[in-house]
Amino acid sequence: KKQIKSDLQIAQEATIKPIKEIAEQLDILEGELEPYGHYKAKLSLSVMERLHTKQDGKVILVTAINPTPAGEGKSTVTVGLAQALHRLGKKAIVAMREPSLGPVMGIKGGAAGGGYAQVLPMEDINLHFTGDLHAITTANNALAAILDNHIHQGNELRIDTRKITWKRVVDLNDRALRQVVVGLGGPMQGVPREDGFDITVASEIMAIFCLASDLQDLKRRLASIVVAYNIDNEPVTVADLGAQGALTLLLKDAIKPNLVQTLEHTPALIHGGPFANIAHGCNSVIATKMAAKLGDYVVTEAGFGADLGAEKFLNIKARMADIKPETVVIVATIRALKMHGGVPKERLNEENIEALEAGIENLEKHIETIQAFGVPYVVAVNRFVTDSKDEVEALMNWCASKNVPVALTEVWEKGGEGGVMLAEKILEVMNEIESQFSPLYDVSASIQEKVEAIAKTVYGAQGVDFAPKALKQIQQFEANGWDHLPICMAKTQYSLSDDQTKLGRPTDFKITVREFRPSLGAGFLVALTGSIMTMPGLPKKPAALNMDIDENGHALGIF
Ligand code: ADP
Repeated sequence: KKQIKSDLQIAQEATIKPIKEIAEQLDILEGELEPYGHYKAKLSLSVMERLHTKQDGKVILVTAINPTPAGEGKSTVTVGLAQALHRLGKKAIVAMREPSLGPVMGIKGGAAGGGYAQVLPMEDINLHFTGDLHAITTANNALAAILDNHIHQGNELRIDTRKITWKRVVDLNDRALRQVVVGLGGPMQGVPREDGFDITVASEIMAIFCLASDLQDLKRRLASIVVAYNIDNEPVTVADLGAQGALTLLLKDAIKPNLVQTLEHTPALIHGGPFANIAHGCNSVIATKMAAKLGDYVVTEAGFGADLGAEKFLNIKARMADIKPETVVIVATIRALKMHGGVPKERLNEENIEALEAGIENLEKHIETIQAFGVPYVVAVNRFVTDSKDEVEALMNWCASKNVPVALTEVWEKGGEGGVMLAEKILEVMNEIESQFSPLYDVSASIQEKVEAIAKTVYGAQGVDFAPKALKQIQQFEANGWDHLPICMAKTQYSLSDDQTKLGRPTDFKITVREFRPSLGAGFLVALTGSIMTMPGLPKKPAALNMDIDENGHALGIF
């Protein structure tokens, strides 16, 4: 039996090419490449100008069923699929999010694919990479400092210090910082007030960073962030503070996409990584669009399941950036489907066809959702070594009986070679069916109508209850002229409903919107359905405690 190697071991044993060679594959000009060491580079935004008349490559979006603790392997399939297309001689590029140190040091350990479908250099990507998250953290905190200084220096804008919505951030899981008091120590230390920290990836600046189309759009969006309300309850923005120029300047290098490579030297752009709850959970628009200019196929990913990540990719990102996805890949695993069918985590290694067949209803709902957007799809079954032959056959039979295009993938075990069937299926589907993509709602519809459209079509809910606070906010937003924006739902990722214990395909339920948060710079309204975590804590045994560095400087223990 083959010994199973860790992701880090596989990554460290791989041969990695100088980044210049990867850039050459894409015909990137020397002046457009800004190397960060030997194996990473930033790409100048001038690439877009040079190629502006070139036809865009086809965008393939990878999403999944509702995640379970059993793991789905969306990033793994994303990377593996691009490797497989590359193997078939196609000019394919990965476009993915950059990991946050919060989950890396906390539970996840790594977010650069897995097994033989990974991006390199794995340690760098998972640690400080090219510093984008530090730049975003700094821009966020510069704004906080400017805001507190404005109040200290006389508060010309008459900011109500009890109504400041802007928080400080740090890119770590640190629950002790969730609620703090700043400005203690007397008149020289500023004005005392309650404050709090979010994780960097939950910052509105991260969402803006990922939706901006260029540097000027970035500045315009930063200027519209609402940071507080004044004593008359009117919004105070970054433009009122005059800070948008400085914030944009702090992001001038970060905004350039990062070029790296997969284990099989497929080019990958890894750029931006907003939370998929408070924000939209997709890599930057700039990276996706640049990848489409540089390659013929872009394989990109959206966070969590299709009810969250894909819904937001399609209703928010694709709409704002005018991206037309040609196909959606819905990743499912037999293990996760069994959990949706009622099997507890400890018993997933036992064959259970009945539970698998019951859990397929979760997959079926996501298929219907993608169909509602008019985009062709392929189901990718991410195979685990523990899946039994009969289980695989049962799932394939179900797909055949429903005419669902499906392919088994073994990219985790075999790299690109294990994804060739999936790649061929996708090429076939793209060839035969044209994407009729359109978003699910019109942005000019009322806030209630938009939330209901998502809840009914995507979640399968009967309707939406709006709590009194939410109803009051809807009135305020309409009065402020903020109602014609897309909605960014904040909901548990584990269930199609807003109750995380309801797995499978819940029916006869309504969802409750408790409150809204305006993200005017990002250009959406966040609808909160439950309590939402914007600063996670570390688990009992943080992944960080397995990490180390050996005497030769090699990283250890990043999964
Ligand atoms: P997601 O993007 O859905 O969060 P990842 O692709 O990051 O999931 O995978 C999560 C973990 O599961 C990674 O450590 C990866 O190596 C592992 N994994 C993914 N696919 C498989 C598989 N087919 N067999 C075993 N482990 C897998």
